[in-house]
Amino acid sequence: MGDQPKLFIDAVIAELHALAKISAADPPVVTRVVFSQADLRARAYVKDLCTKAGLTIHEDAIGNTFARWQGSDPSLAPVGTGSHIDAIPNAGLYDGCVGVLGGLEAIRVLQKLGFKPRRSIELVIFTSEEPTRFGIGCLGSRMMASVLTPAQAEKLRDKDGRSLAEVRSKAGFTGTLESVALPAGRFHQFVELHIEQGPELEKEGIDIGLVTHIAAPASQRIVIEGEGGHAGARLMPGRKDALAAAAELILALEAAAKTTGAIDTVGTVGICDVFPGAVNSIPSRVHITTDIRDIDSARRDRVLDALLEACSEVSARRGVTITTELINADPPATCDAAILDALEASAIAAKKSYKRMVSRAYHDSLFMARIAPVAMVFIPCRGGVSHRPDEYSSPEWIGSGVHVLSRTLATLAV
Ligand SMILES: [Zn+2]
Repeated sequence: MGDQPKLFIDAVIAELHALAKISAADPPVVTRVVFSQADLRARAYVKDLCTKAGLTIHEDAIGNTFARWQGSDPSLAPVGTGSHIDAIPNAGLYDGCVGVLGGLEAIRVLQKLGFKPRRSIELVIFTSEEPTRFGIGCLGSRMMASVLTPAQAEKLRDKDGRSLAEVRSKAGFTGTLESVALPAGRFHQFVELHIEQGPELEKEGIDIGLVTHIAAPASQRIVIEGEGGHAGARLMPGRKDALAAAAELILALEAAAKTTGAIDTVGTVGICDVFPGAVNSIPSRVHITTDIRDIDSARRDRVLDALLEACSEVSARRGVTITTELINADPPATCDAAILDALEASAIAAKKSYKRMVSRAYHDSLFMARIAPVAMVFIPCRGGVSHRPDEYSSPEWIGSGVHVLSRTLATLAV
């Protein structure tokens, strides 16, 4: 495979811009919430491109879309690539879409070069990677990997109270949710192209990030109940100030996350609601949510344990009641060594600079890792900006990603 003709990249850039115009907001803003009119039109656009490339399309009961380039031995499990085309409100045009249209382009490049895959290559467009509508991210891949059960999915409601069942059937996706789950082995391997959504690659002037681990959050909701009262009349001895207790927990989390000895451990309290929230009133109730992330689940769980220990210690010492509820704790993923080696060889052959790195955000690949060996290819994005209308990745960066992906698919599919 020689240097990729520029023509191919022009096509994918034009398609990215055409897809961006299918949005509930005016350009350059992209807003494409799952099963909205914009989402359905965008799906139709991408499916049409896939059909034109000779791919066979199959959709599951939740709208995950599989576009297959049939290999010479259809009995073999396919190699998968792909990402998502839904977008949060006020987003840009690269997140997710680069992995879908870039994945399609990688297939078309191989077709034009006359490559004949032995394994089929399947482009996957995952439903609702973004949590906008149902409050849960990676809905499609989560269900594929049976991390979210059909019974749990049936309970999901959007902000207007509409059930997933109602919304998906209106969008034309029927069939039982049980049929969405895929067995391990359904995909031989899976590789996702994505913009970094962080600043490292651009800052270091590197073309390609080879993702070795995908970090995942554990999120906890903590409610502290103390005793309110007049800020002047109630003297300090014997106070049960819920916010002072919360402050200790926030610092305990920070200390625990800082002392694991690993740079990859992060702990954050991003929500702190204080009741009654008056200047002259002792806080009687506080709700905080914690977010702990790591690439190593045991290490992440040790921070979580330290936080829970602090909860019981603070509760006993201050005489406040503390209740904790685990909102989610998805396991982090380790990427597959063989795919990473294939990616590295492809980057070298394509004369692209590369480095191995961690994905701090999570992606559909986190869940695909439960049923298939996975890896991810990152390309730079300007200033590390993502989930904003000014999100940008240059045609050269996208071209590099497509080039490395196409070489890798060719390696994996023989
Ligand atoms: Zn994404």
